[in-house]
Amino acid sequence: MSSNSSSLYPSTYHPQPNALAGELSALLGPTKVLSGVGERLNYRYDAILIGQTPLAVVLPETTEDVVTAVRLARRAGIPVVGRGAASGLSGGAVPLQESVVISFTRMTQLNIFPLQQQAVAQPGVITLAVSEAAKPYGLVYPPDPASLRTSTIGGNLGENAGGPMCFKYGVSGDYVHALEVVDADGDIHQLERGAYDLAGLLIGSEGTLGLITQATLRLVTPPKYTRTLMIHFAEVGQAAEAVSQAIAAGAVPSKLEFMDKICIGAVEDYLALGLPREAEALLLVDTDGDDLETVEAELALVEQACKAYGAVVRRAANDLEAAALWQARRSISPALGRIRPKRMNEDIVVPRSRLPEVVREIRALSEATGFNVAQFGHIGDGNLHPNILFDPRHESEAAVHDLAHQIALVALRCGGVLSGEHGIGAMKRDFMLDALDRSNLEALWQIKRALDPALSLNPGKILPEW
Ligand SMILES: Cc1cc2nc3c(=O)[nH]c(=O)nc-3n(C[C@H](O)[C@H](O)[C@H](O)COP(=O)(O)OP(=O)(O)OC[C@H]3O[C@@H](n4cnc5c(N)ncnc54)[C@H](O)[C@@H]3O)c2cc1C
Repeated sequence: MSSNSSSLYPSTYHPQPNALAGELSALLGPTKVLSGVGERLNYRYDAILIGQTPLAVVLPETTEDVVTAVRLARRAGIPVVGRGAASGLSGGAVPLQESVVISFTRMTQLNIFPLQQQAVAQPGVITLAVSEAAKPYGLVYPPDPASLRTSTIGGNLGENAGGPMCFKYGVSGDYVHALEVVDADGDIHQLERGAYDLAGLLIGSEGTLGLITQATLRLVTPPKYTRTLMIHFAEVGQAAEAVSQAIAAGAVPSKLEFMDKICIGAVEDYLALGLPREAEALLLVDTDGDDLETVEAELALVEQACKAYGAVVRRAANDLEAAALWQARRSISPALGRIRPKRMNEDIVVPRSRLPEVVREIRALSEATGFNVAQFGHIGDGNLHPNILFDPRHESEAAVHDLAHQIALVALRCGGVLSGEHGIGAMKRDFMLDALDRSNLEALWQIKRALDPALSLNPGKILPEW
């Protein structure tokens, strides 16, 4: 099968960038459209990829603005790429051909409804802002990607973002009551969760099936008590096995994060927090709840399981000490950035029981290729982020991509999947050919064509051609 996207945007059609931008500007007003090349250049990348400079960038303030932009782009035969904060790690928000980028950063209305325990957010709302606005009402929004200070609700739902709390509390999509969506024709839909769950279909679809213009989100009351452990092991396999034992014994930690030796060393070089450089694996664990006895008992289960595997366990004495321990996890990204200027961030999920073997295989690939690969992730869910560190001035990006592919194949061979929370985007689109058989891929294409027959929404993402 092959996509006919090229015939939709015939090579004879070459709109002058400013002609399309001019039309958008005339309809929306000049302050909502960027047409200068210097301005447009800023909208061709996300946190991992650089793509093509868009023909025009629209900064909508209302759903009607989105409708206008989608309809005009549709009439001109130009695709539309939705964009939040562009912190994505799979190239989802990156235009791959002449496009109109719709950047949601001005759609930041947010209302809290404490009695309903709901927030109604426009897509440009920063993730952390939801919990900050909910806090005075004694409520919280649990999805906690490490990027929560910059990422947006639209981008989080586009990728179905997770975070350290997802093992106990779930991912972004688990907190959606309803969505307002603008479809490929520019029509507005109000989607509730329910039969056929069209809202669920939109979540994680990376802007390829519709553009989210509003989300009704579920808020919860935060737990009264939290307890924190830092645990280190002489061997990665011991960490994975201890975690499985603790969970089997009944512990449901709210956070369960893993860092390998490279991450430990990088964070230590960066912040000198006193982390054990000699350790092969470090776990950071929180248990939480409203009943202190249960919270302590769950912590004890984790502690016992880890000690049985020879781990060294350190309990945070208070909130301040816990925050200091978690600083280690939060600092991984900047710390790795000091080793090499660029990273390709893989995002595989494997059964927890296979983690030791997967970590070992990835290490072997790192040694064989000469690339530094740091590994960390949400070990409770088996979600691992092998980060390939490289310097594009001296190292080949094609070789990095090839290594990312090898890592994806290790995950698939061990019963895992290509992505836990960063999406497929452009980066892993071709790996989908390894992950799904042709009939499954064909079914996905049928859904895409049913909702976006002209293939005008974020082309080149998720679905491979063959
Ligand atoms: C340092 C760092 C740490 C990170 N940690 C995590 C983590 O812990 N967990 C995690 O899950 N991710 C993490 N990420 C990845 C990234 O932050 C998430 O994928 C986030 O959800 C992207 O949000 P964004 O607003 O930047 O979206 P963008 O990158 O702008 O867009 C992401 C995708 O969503 C689509 N999109 C954007 N807005 C809309 C909309 N309104 N309607 C429909 N589609 C839309 C885009 O087209 C694109 O496909 C991290 C990234 C960085 C740089």
